[in-house]
Amino acid sequence: MGIVVQKYGGSSLADADAIKRVARRIVEVKKSGHDVVVAVSAMGDTTDDLYDLANGVSPLPPAREMDMLLTAGERISMALVAMAISDLGYTARSFTGSQAGVITDSVHGKAKIIDITPGRITQAIGEGHIVIVAGFQGVSADTKEITTLGRGGTDTTAVALAAALEADVCEIYTDVDGVFTADPRIVPSARKLDKVSYEEMLELAACGAKILHLRCVEYGRRYGIPIHVRSSFSQLEGTWVVNDPRAHPSLSGPTEEDTMEQPIIAGVAHDRSEAKITVVGVPDKVGEAARIFEALADAQINLDMIVQNVSAAATSLTDISFTLPRTDGQVAMTALARIQAEVGYDKLLYDDKIGKVSLIGAGMRSHPGITSKFFAALASAGVNIGMISTSEIRISVVVDENAVDDAVRATHTAFDLDADEVEAVVYGGTGR
Ligand code: ASP
Ligand code: MG
Repeated sequence: MGIVVQKYGGSSLADADAIKRVARRIVEVKKSGHDVVVAVSAMGDTTDDLYDLANGVSPLPPAREMDMLLTAGERISMALVAMAISDLGYTARSFTGSQAGVITDSVHGKAKIIDITPGRITQAIGEGHIVIVAGFQGVSADTKEITTLGRGGTDTTAVALAAALEADVCEIYTDVDGVFTADPRIVPSARKLDKVSYEEMLELAACGAKILHLRCVEYGRRYGIPIHVRSSFSQLEGTWVVNDPRAHPSLSGPTEEDTMEQPIIAGVAHDRSEAKITVVGVPDKVGEAARIFEALADAQINLDMIVQNVSAAATSLTDISFTLPRTDGQVAMTALARIQAEVGYDKLLYDDKIGKVSLIGAGMRSHPGITSKFFAALASAGVNIGMISTSEIRISVVVDENAVDDAVRATHTAFDLDADEVEAVVYGGTGR
């Protein structure tokens, strides 16, 4: 039998009892004849606590030291899980990301995996061990420094390991039963998706659905790794992320639903982690936008929505607004301040009291009227729209931070996504 890769998130590893429970689950799979490789996150809210600790020591901690600090969280989990497994009479070997051969680029805090050289993992598997890998971390090929993959990066560690080891499946264990049509913490009547396409899952993840790390989905799609998102607190079947949800044979054989058209809308995602910067009074001439976004690119900032206003005829000045991760706000403002004289803009405005709400579904391509229905739902909930952006299968709006919950609920209801009975159980975690 093949290799099963599993990932356990922080809420599944919150304390000693939780770790023992996870160890039993891992051993079950080993007993059934599979080789098991497990990527673990830091226990509970350890990563947040380490952040707070760092910020208590320094307002802008050096990125290298931040990575050294944060990777410690996953090292604690990996060793404890391995100990709990050995207590059950099986042997486990824990490895840091670097020992496991997770090779990344050199960008601290959001490194990308560029290669996996799993020699030590395959050797340990060959010797009959269960392998536990510290998630969310790697080592830079160039600088030899320890890196982290960004918040939630253990998902990506797991899928990347599954690809490198040619595993049959990558199981992502979390504190809800799968991927839901909205965050069950906001919409208790959200429905679990049995299957979702990589394409839709990519948009959901990019739009703030914290259930899966964006790059994990990209990885899964590129290497064709089926991702099974499920709860570590129940035995229920979760959500399968696959290429073509209709073609994917479900474990119980093709269902009637498989032959039917997929639903138009996969779900409603929201994101409270972004901020908006407006560059006010930019001279409306060739090359100004290029200069602004070049400065942001040089600072390694990932932008999301971008809006340029029509320039006021009288002044030939325009405003450019964009959204970006709040955590990059400071760095972006500094980078832009540096080019103020060169670009000749008037001033910068920073707003982090915003949220983004997105409607996602592959069926949008062939169904007109989705946008108007979405905006009508927002209007009837009294939600004002600040910015709009779309892709083929997504519509996103920026709204006031305090309006996010109402916007999500109204949209969910308007598209008939509410379940008749509450399906969602949130087993743990603070969702922060
Ligand atoms: N512990 C890290 C975080 O909380 C990585 C992860 O959980 O995947 O973001
Ligand atoms: Mg975590």
